[in-house]
Amino acid sequence: MTRTRKRLRHLALAIGTAAGAVVATDSGLRLAACGVPTSLITICALSVFATVNAVGGSVADALATTTYRCPSGCGFKVRLRSLDAGEHRRQQEVAASHPSHT
Ligand SMILES: [Zn+2]
Repeated sequence: MTRTRKRLRHLALAIGTAAGAVVATDSGLRLAACGVPTSLITICALSVFATVNAVGGSVADALATTTYRCPSGCGFKVRLRSLDAGEHRRQQEVAASHPSHT
């Protein structure tokens, strides 16, 4: 994984966490204004935070994942994370030489 991709991944994780905290706080404040009990506000705010944070994690994973496709155009592909240069080349060869082209 290149340094730029690592930075983008960390940035996506940080943005997901910050956005989750903001949205969860906003949801909690809106529910509190309506007189919802504190236990329900806590549960809702944590759920909203977890959901938004998971979206940030998914984006971060997508940024860190490399996809190798068969060069002959079939549907075969390999998705891996965190590869160095040698492993990158090896996975390209694996994708090109898989046994059955579909
Ligand atoms: Zn193929």
